[in-house]
Amino acid sequence: MLDLTTKKIVERKALKINPAKTCQPIGAMYAALGVHACLPHSHGSQGCCSYHRMQLTRHFKEPIMASTSAFTEGASVFGGGANLKTAVKNIFELYKPDIIAVHTTCLSETIGDDCKTMIFQVEADVPEGKHVIHASTPSYVGSHITGFSNMVTAFITYLSVNSGVKNGKINMLPGFVQPGDMREIKRILSVMEIDNILFPDTSGVLDSPMTGSFEMYPLGGTKVEDIIDAGNSDLSLALGSYSAQAAAIELEKKCKVPMKTLSTPIGIEATDRLITELALLTHKAVPYSVEEERGQLVDLMLDSQGYFNGKKVAIYGDPDTVIGLTEFVISLGMIPKYVITGTPGDAFKREVDAILAKNDIEGSEVKAASDLFELHQWMKNEPVDLLMGNTHGKFIARAEDVPFVRVGFPILDRYAHQYFSIVGYKGSVRLIEMMLNAILDKIDRTCPEEDFELVM
Ligand code: SF4
Repeated sequence: MLDLTTKKIVERKALKINPAKTCQPIGAMYAALGVHACLPHSHGSQGCCSYHRMQLTRHFKEPIMASTSAFTEGASVFGGGANLKTAVKNIFELYKPDIIAVHTTCLSETIGDDCKTMIFQVEADVPEGKHVIHASTPSYVGSHITGFSNMVTAFITYLSVNSGVKNGKINMLPGFVQPGDMREIKRILSVMEIDNILFPDTSGVLDSPMTGSFEMYPLGGTKVEDIIDAGNSDLSLALGSYSAQAAAIELEKKCKVPMKTLSTPIGIEATDRLITELALLTHKAVPYSVEEERGQLVDLMLDSQGYFNGKKVAIYGDPDTVIGLTEFVISLGMIPKYVITGTPGDAFKREVDAILAKNDIEGSEVKAASDLFELHQWMKNEPVDLLMGNTHGKFIARAEDVPFVRVGFPILDRYAHQYFSIVGYKGSVRLIEMMLNAILDKIDRTCPEEDFELVM
């Protein structure tokens, strides 16, 4: 296990150990699954596709459908154009999707396959009313978040159109969040009576019910016609500068739809900003049911503050999620001592540092393109009271005996998380419950017998 991780920190330049990210096509595949009747297609070797499907299947506990160009030696040397042509023809004949979303892999990018031209060349094999799009997702740059963002942007580049007639809707780009989060965002929009296009939308796809019969394409997912129509909306709201903003910028550039970026609505302040923005946009009062949810959250924050105040926390994972969690734990009185993401990019440190400075918090380590080995070494030198992040942190949590909250992607060793939300006021209540339970469980487990209490 990780008991032998050393305290002594040695500067590393090229080597990553246990990186807090995974590869681009996984994010691209996830984004494509958020489009109704879309088949993600991996342009590369079978091994890449198997790994990406497996990782998503392990997280969502659902079979992930995707096809592959199945490169062998020939395609690896001479290019995968012929493979893609055969694949497109077979996929429409056999699996009958509305759209195929092609993403590249390290191999097809390295040999320089020009997917745009290849897709143009297979047009004759695309049935009337169906579509093929592609995103460039080489895994030696970026992360699964970059891949997600690239794929969402590609759908817009290929499909969205400004017809000149406004549809009176807002485009909501939720970023890389879970199906339960997408459901919660839709619920908030519905309660506030806001006509919208949520894109992508993996609810009803990766949290779909057992019906007794196999559905290649479950009922959920953003419809292709809605992605086309997104070019006629009044505004795009991007929730997250890493996973949602680029697509909103593309919509503005291509279809002249104005855009605004907000942070992922994790915690009371970020949710307040979203609700305020929606109320201002629609000139409608915030419904009582939303105020009630906020009041419940405030009540819980007050009830539990004794367990959070002044406690140090380490947070790692995807940048938009980690930025949201950082602001949230500060609102609980905690100190985000270590804040890292594996995804590269300057915006992460800038945004987290701004949150820390606004709250007069000094002495925190904040780093993009970091890894869990580095985080573990920091924790060995100065321990924390809580660790928050994906499943990969469980080894550190065990080695250091620190309470651990599983949040983000991937969560491979627990069930049901995809049904629940961490966004909005309701999501914050759930987060507090998980954080509190982790802390209280450790107190119960380690306290002296005379302090073992029935009521806490
Ligand atoms: S070769 Fe590249 S795309 Fe394929 S699994 Fe490895 S990192 Fe991901």
